[in-house]
Amino acid sequence: MNQLIDNSIDVLIVGAGPAGLMTACQLAIHQIPFRIIDKNSSSSTNSGALIVQARTLEIFEQMGISGDALSEGVVAGSINIIYNGKKITSTSINDLGGTLSLFPFLLMLEQSKTEKLLLNFIGDRGYSVEREVQIQGFTQEDERVTSVVILPDGSEQVIYSKYIIAADGSTSTIRNILNIPFEGKSYPKSIFIVDCKAESDLSPDEISFAFSKSSVAGFFPIKGSRWRIDSNLPPEYENQQKLTFDVVEQNFQRWTQMNIHFQSQQWFSVTRSHQKYAKSVRFQNCFLIGDAAHVHTPVGAQGMNTGLQDANNLAWKIAFVIKHRAKPSLLDSYSSERLGISKGFARYADVVFRVLTSGNSGVKFFRSYVLRLFFMVLFPLISRLKIFRRRFFKSISQININYRGSILSYRESRFNFFHAAPKPGDRLPFFNLPEGGKNISIYEKLDPASFNLLVMADFLPDEVKQTGEQFNLRVLLIPNIPETVSVYKQLGIKKTGYYLIRPDMYVALKSANLNTLHLKRFLKQVFIK
Ligand SMILES: Cc1cc2nc3c(=O)[nH]c(=O)nc-3n(C[C@H](O)[C@H](O)[C@H](O)COP(=O)(O)OP(=O)(O)OC[C@H]3O[C@@H](n4cnc5c(N)ncnc54)[C@H](O)[C@@H]3O)c2cc1C
Repeated sequence: MNQLIDNSIDVLIVGAGPAGLMTACQLAIHQIPFRIIDKNSSSSTNSGALIVQARTLEIFEQMGISGDALSEGVVAGSINIIYNGKKITSTSINDLGGTLSLFPFLLMLEQSKTEKLLLNFIGDRGYSVEREVQIQGFTQEDERVTSVVILPDGSEQVIYSKYIIAADGSTSTIRNILNIPFEGKSYPKSIFIVDCKAESDLSPDEISFAFSKSSVAGFFPIKGSRWRIDSNLPPEYENQQKLTFDVVEQNFQRWTQMNIHFQSQQWFSVTRSHQKYAKSVRFQNCFLIGDAAHVHTPVGAQGMNTGLQDANNLAWKIAFVIKHRAKPSLLDSYSSERLGISKGFARYADVVFRVLTSGNSGVKFFRSYVLRLFFMVLFPLISRLKIFRRRFFKSISQININYRGSILSYRESRFNFFHAAPKPGDRLPFFNLPEGGKNISIYEKLDPASFNLLVMADFLPDEVKQTGEQFNLRVLLIPNIPETVSVYKQLGIKKTGYYLIRPDMYVALKSANLNTLHLKRFLKQVFIK
């Protein structure tokens, strides 16, 4: 039965995985009405996407939930490399990124807990996920999206919205309805995943990778003295239809040559990996985000984190257009900034994943001898080098992602910046600001619902103040005092200047003086007065 009720809403979010939930959180911040539906009856209950990267934690910090994330998770202290049951090297990673981020580490936080934090965030603002509600189809006409969903009792409901967000995962119904190609590769080898308690010699806050003749396994600590273990399938099980937990439990010690006894198992799954990208991430007022737009191998823990950044990139743009603050052309920047965003990292992840899972005898030889030599001799040296650690952190943490080529990145109005200063399109680097004798993180000071103007000067010139008021910018004055010398240096400002920061913390424009000509030109391009 089709209940033809006029259910109008600004945004319909399809899918309440991490990407859909983050979109909901961001729309709630901007006070944009939305509905979020999911075909499942409950949210995730396992470790799933376990590693939360620094860039995601920076967004959590802006949302006021980073403290909860940290207390619910485990910061990885070290990475150990084990061969045939013996640790051959270990490197500390709890301060991998140094001063590059407020969160210079990898946080192990179960996907179920990440989802819970996001669910609580929208719950506190009066929203909840409509469960067992499935999208069946939709059309777009005259700037309006008409969706048909199936309700838990089997009846149909029509929902009208200005925008629809496809956060419905790798098998996206919406992507299929739109016939958007999803191309890339599926890896032939499966891996198995276990969430469990175990008795072992492993340290409870360290990541370990264990290699043996027949196995490559990763051990990731989870809060509550538990482990998440990802492993390849030993050769004798590679072609079997079904590997059970019982088989793993009985044979894991032999495969890995490690002293480990499973005590209780909470999740067991055998899965294949894919690396695929949607050919486009927008069709009129429908946007693809998260796994609906891209899927990755587990190497580097990028999948969920990339989806969360998609949501953070898109939601404020939709909000500004719905509120008639920005021109609809602002939405064009979503595709130009996010389409294929993680392809660079994926090339590296592809090689690593194939080396780790291949059953080819040449690759096995490489893993057993060449890689082992590398870990014993070279790795202990390079892993101590600051330049290596910073580079590695920058690429894995997603803080290095930039939108320099975007239409929203206005080239410098003056070029007398230090070379290392952030450029339009870069993430605003992390720094602290002095306030009342304390240091306050810049993420706390900026408003995620506005463009923010950081003005480096001893007082606010009238012209800058008026421009801020005219375009509803949040203006923050950073005077040149001894406590802010390092901030001026980091931002490449010698005397005075300003940075215009987008709601998602990326630099839109910068100036090495207080002239507002370029600022106004940029704002007129983007904003509706
Ligand atoms: C072994 C493994 C380890 C991983 N580890 C990490 C990691 O450490 N860090 C990381 O960043 N990523 C990791 N990933 C990737 C990560 O799990 C995914 O990228 C992430 O879960 C995708 O989130 P999403 O919200 O886009 O999609 P999903 O989590 O798939 O959510 C999609 C939602 O849409 C709903 N849905 C689907 N169809 C419909 C429909 N027709 N109507 C209504 N609802 C619908 C589904 O029920 C689901 O709840 C890992 C992946 C694997 C396989």
